[in-house]
Amino acid sequence: MKDERDELGFREHHPFLRKKGMLVVISGFSGSGKGTLMKQLMQNYDYYSLSVSATTRAPRPGEEEGREYFFVSKERFMEMIQNGELLEYAKYVDNYYGTPKAYVEQEMAKGKDVILEIEMQGALKIKARYPESVLVFITPPTISELIDRLRKRGTETEEVIRKRLEKAAMEAEGIEAYDYILVNDNLDKTAKHLNYLIQDQHMRVRSQIEFLEHIRKELRANYASMNN
Ligand code: 5GP
Repeated sequence: MKDERDELGFREHHPFLRKKGMLVVISGFSGSGKGTLMKQLMQNYDYYSLSVSATTRAPRPGEEEGREYFFVSKERFMEMIQNGELLEYAKYVDNYYGTPKAYVEQEMAKGKDVILEIEMQGALKIKARYPESVLVFITPPTISELIDRLRKRGTETEEVIRKRLEKAAMEAEGIEAYDYILVNDNLDKTAKHLNYLIQDQHMRVRSQIEFLEHIRKELRANYASMNN
């Protein structure tokens, strides 16, 4: 399917538009399919960087150190907090999760939009610290589909699934703090939609303060030279 917006080249349309990358927070219930969605986004577009979190959770079968997570001991995690190595962190179900700061800052400076796939408490900390960040909440089309996906994953016990659903019910109360909600009913479609949604944020006035200053300066210079 041809998509007109792909021809706009909307990341490059003015040399003075701010090139610094944006911080994008993606949250969603456990089982919302957000992990697969992130993989798709990374595959399709080269201007995103996915932040890899540190966690005290044990790796699931198939997960690799440094790819899904940096798997660390609780002692090492506490040390990371103490040393200010984390942009944010939270306890989720029985484990700690946190975003390493250095990678995020380095990628944003390169102009990449950095994606943090994190839960709600962390998302709120990011919004407080970086008001320009954009918060997107991903839901599956129905709750029965959510439960199905959790069961099909086959990596969690019924007790952990129960805890994750309980957590989801709590999280559902906080979705108003997010900027956008996206229903993940079709992987390709949702990935495209998410990309447009993020890229549009670059054109928000508050993301383009330097550009505004530039326009104002040029206007003043022209006005002054006409007066003389
Ligand atoms: P899982 O154990 O299923 O990989 O992740 C559990 C939850 O922790 C998910 O909601 C995931 O988005 C969140 N999470 C992963 N990394 C981080 C992080 O660095 N910070 C916070 N606050 N949450 C995270």
